[in-house]
Amino acid sequence: MKILVPVKRVIDYNVKVRVKSDGSGVDLANVKMSMNPFDEVAIEEAVRLKEAGIASEVVAVSAGVAACQETLRTAMALGADRSILIVTDEELQPLAVAKLLKAVCDKEAPQMVIPGKQAIDDDANQTGQMLAALLGWPQATFASKVVVNADKTGAAVTREIDGGLETIEISLPAVVTTDLRLNEPRYATLPNIMKAKKKPLETTTPEALGVDVKPRLKTLKVAEPAKRAGGVKVADVAALVDKLKNEAKVI
Ligand code: AMP
Repeated sequence: MKILVPVKRVIDYNVKVRVKSDGSGVDLANVKMSMNPFDEVAIEEAVRLKEAGIASEVVAVSAGVAACQETLRTAMALGADRSILIVTDEELQPLAVAKLLKAVCDKEAPQMVIPGKQAIDDDANQTGQMLAALLGWPQATFASKVVVNADKTGAAVTREIDGGLETIEISLPAVVTTDLRLNEPRYATLPNIMKAKKKPLETTTPEALGVDVKPRLKTLKVAEPAKRAGGVKVADVAALVDKLKNEAKVI
């Protein structure tokens, strides 16, 4: 059983994001980039399925600028067997990524695709769902547990939903998107980082895959969130209730 894991290169989650002064987007100059944290969870799950003898191959795929190959090398250091880089300088929106991933799925015929539930840069939470729709495959989103059936024709997936957990049965091939509680990703060891340099990384382009990636949405303006105003100390509960009622008007 082959597993395909899409991995996105995003601003590292420890970096304080800065908006460009002209409001046209986020400043990426000299900013540390890393693998989207939900995709690390996805790689870990795929590698664990391989270690358990359920998956036979884990293929990582990333779409974006040439530097995405660093993200793919990390995926391979974490255990992916090989990688595919779809290189483009075009801004990629979720529908374009889903179409690219569909084209890769048509060639690779994986039994499972495991994207993250969302990318922490645009918080779109769309790519996995769109990919499942384009492929006509079942989808199990926000997975916190994945158990593949012994005959590998289906899987039971526990999903994080409002107020609890839901377990659903899906047939394979399917798209399963990861929630953070699915597992705790391992760290890449130095020997595995060295080994990853020699693993195969194939490069292709949207044109070669026959996909038009032109953006459908236009960003009009990007702005910083409003600065938090300082708090005040109130003398007693009555003063607090008065402020909530008459100033904040929340009760
Ligand atoms: P999003 O729908 O943008 O929140 O992204 C959800 C997931 O789709 C991510 O966690 C990745 O697994 C995958 N994904 C999104 N964009 C890309 C990309 N450019 N390359 C590879 N995978 C991507």
